Amino acid sequence: MRFLFSAICVFCAWLLHAQSRYTTRQLLNGRYKNDSSYIYSLPFETGKKVFLIQGINETIFSHKGERSLDFKIKKGTTICAARAGVVTAVRQDSDKGGLKPENLADGNYIIIQHNDCSTAWYWHLKKNGVLVQEGDSVQEGQPIGLSGNTGFSAFPHLHFEVQGRDAAGNYTRLATRFYTQHGPIYLSPLRFYRTRR
Ligand SMILES: [Zn+2]
Repeated sequence: MRFLFSAICVFCAWLLHAQSRYTTRQLLNGRYKNDSSYIYSLPFETGKKVFLIQGINETIFSHKGERSLDFKIKKGTTICAARAGVVTAVRQDSDKGGLKPENLADGNYIIIQHNDCSTAWYWHLKKNGVLVQEGDSVQEGQPIGLSGNTGFSAFPHLHFEVQGRDAAGNYTRLATRFYTQHGPIYLSPLRFYRTRR
C-alpha cells in the first residue's frame, strides 16, 4: 500500500514537472491543462534563502495531509506579505510557545484577505512582532511582521497557509505555488529556496 502511494506521488511529481514544459500546441489541444492558480512570493525579503521543513500534503510530522508550509528561520526574521490584501486579524501579545496542547492557543499571527476572498495565515510571530494593523492594505513583499516561536511550535519558524474555496466550493486549505530561483513551483520539503519576485 505504501509503495502504491509512493508510486502515485512520483507520478504526480512527474506530472507537475511535465506541466511546466508544455508547448502552446499541447495547451491548445487540451493535452495539458494550464495551472492558473496565483503565484505567491515567498514571505521573506527578496534574496533571502530559506529552508522548507514541511510542504503541502506532508506524510510525517505535524502537518499530516495538510496543505500548509513550515519555513525554518531565525527568530526576528522579517516576514513579508506573500500576496497583496487587507489585514483582517492580528495577534501579538503572546510570548509562550511549546508542544503542549495548551500551546495551540498561544500563537501570534497575521491574517490577510486577498481579492479572491482567500486568506493567508502567518503564524508563530514573536511578541510585539506585528508591523501592520487590522484594516491595513498591504502590498505583496511589504514587511508585515517578525518571526518567532509562539504557539504550538518547537523551534523558531513560520507557518504559512492559504484558506479558500476549492473547485467544489468547499472551504479548505489551498495548495500554493511560489516564485523561486527555479521559477514558479510548488515547494518540496527539506529544500532551500531563495525569494524572488
Ligand atoms: Zn506548521
